[in-house]
Amino acid sequence: MDHFLYRDGALYAEDVPIAEIAAGVGTPFYVYSTATLTRHFRLFDEALDGVPHLVCYAMKAASNQAILKTLAGLGAGMDVVSGGEYARAVAAGVPGDRIVFSGVGKTRDEMRQALTGGIRQFNVESEPEMAALNEVAQELGTVAPITVRVNPDVDAKTHAKIATGKSENKFGIPIARARDVYAHAATLPGLKVIGIDVHIGSQLTELEPFRLAYEKVGELTEQLRADGHDIQRLDLGGGLGIPYTRSNDAPPLPTEYGALIKDTLGHLGCEIEIEPGRLVAGNAGLMVSKVIYVKSGEDREFLILDGAMNDLIRPAMYEAHHDIIPVIEPEAGAEQTPYDIVGPVCESGDTFAKGRMMPPVNTGDLVAFRSAGAYGAVMASEYNTRPLIPEVLVHGHQFAVIRSRPSFDEMINRDTIPEWL
Ligand SMILES: *Cc1c(COP(=O)(O)O)cnc(C)c1O
Repeated sequence: MDHFLYRDGALYAEDVPIAEIAAGVGTPFYVYSTATLTRHFRLFDEALDGVPHLVCYAMKAASNQAILKTLAGLGAGMDVVSGGEYARAVAAGVPGDRIVFSGVGKTRDEMRQALTGGIRQFNVESEPEMAALNEVAQELGTVAPITVRVNPDVDAKTHAKIATGKSENKFGIPIARARDVYAHAATLPGLKVIGIDVHIGSQLTELEPFRLAYEKVGELTEQLRADGHDIQRLDLGGGLGIPYTRSNDAPPLPTEYGALIKDTLGHLGCEIEIEPGRLVAGNAGLMVSKVIYVKSGEDREFLILDGAMNDLIRPAMYEAHHDIIPVIEPEAGAEQTPYDIVGPVCESGDTFAKGRMMPPVNTGDLVAFRSAGAYGAVMASEYNTRPLIPEVLVHGHQFAVIRSRPSFDEMINRDTIPEWL
């Protein structure tokens, strides 16, 4: 459920007409709904009622500080995967003891930054990383709290580019080697083992892979405790999928996911962390774009938009589907025709949809890409020297630009010309 609905024939974000935002900030832009972000975060938080837990929003999904602040205000922690994200979380007011550091290639500088600024835990992904973190912590005269990310060799049954829990993936250490790795970690004075971490992929539409992974984590918890490790915290990653189409079978709900966690791991008395990104932000955001031209090809009609693959790369990168709807509500029963919906970038991959059935669309019309809140703005680039598009946050009747569109000067003045030119 989200808060982007038609009202009196026009699409609204909460109580603000999309067309009003478009008139104010120009197109294309991203718009997020505070009520939807709040609702999704609370679903997770409430799903874990009854067990000690912290929901650490995976901020790589949508990392604008206004979004972070909204979620942090509800009690969210943050899952960060880079020094830049760590700095953003801190800038948004998130205390270090609510920040979890994930990622397969943390640098020593990033470790230093987080150990100095405060950190809840590092999710360590390899033995070389463990050695480096041990050294950095000792240099700083401190001890780094860690979990080790285990790879449970479970098929997440999702798109290959976002599956992370099979043995062929680069993430974590094989679960079969976990006891050896924990034994080694326990000998390193710069580290304190506090738990186990697992994350098997993104956009999972079934619970079964989670069940398989969490059962393995439960067994490992008991083995590691028997080996003398103090396993107090289980970080179970993110990955619960969202419905990208209205027609599809809906993925499992956070309540069902929470029940599964309690069922598989509740008896262990551990603090549970989860790291949802997509489900918190995905359906809380739209990308709004304007039709520049309606062009008739030999055998098809093209809708050429002012938004492009550099603004929303998911269709080009993952063959992802986004529902695309007109901002003016179509008449009930309006005839639909197929369109190829494309951007202006010089690549054939700059195609959002082929043969998409839409009611008649005209030059100048606004369209909205649904489910664009996660892995949208954060993956944008300035390819073709197109400015990063603005982000807008709606809260009831109010809206605010939370990242403005840079001017051409701001973009091109980041280049420096060597003196020999
Ligand atoms: C990407 C990622 C997440 C979030 O995944 P979603 O599918 O967006 O919920 C959580 N944890 C880790 C370690 C990740 O890399």
